[in-house]
Amino acid sequence: MATDYDAPRKTEEDISEDSLEELKVHRTDKQSAVVDEDEAEAADSFELPGADLSGEELLVQVLPAQADEFTCASCFLVRHRSQVAREKDGLLYCRDCEG
Ligand SMILES: [Zn+2]
Repeated sequence: MATDYDAPRKTEEDISEDSLEELKVHRTDKQSAVVDEDEAEAADSFELPGADLSGEELLVQVLPAQADEFTCASCFLVRHRSQVAREKDGLLYCRDCEG
């Protein structure tokens, strides 16, 4: 229990941990309240004009199929040419969709 190195260390750790945790608790309380307000305001004023549009463009853009790939006309997944099960009216269907 009472060893030479253990006793003084524990006392120091206890003291510092206690004070640190007290600081953390107080800080997070204040910070979270402030951050919430800031984020709400930021969402209203900043995100609508610019950021959303660029993000949606990226999402909507479909990656062009590579030379050895095709886009299934049924599930719209880009698949390897070896997965073509049927071609009809210039549309390609993958094995998964053709069963
Ligand atoms: Zn498919």
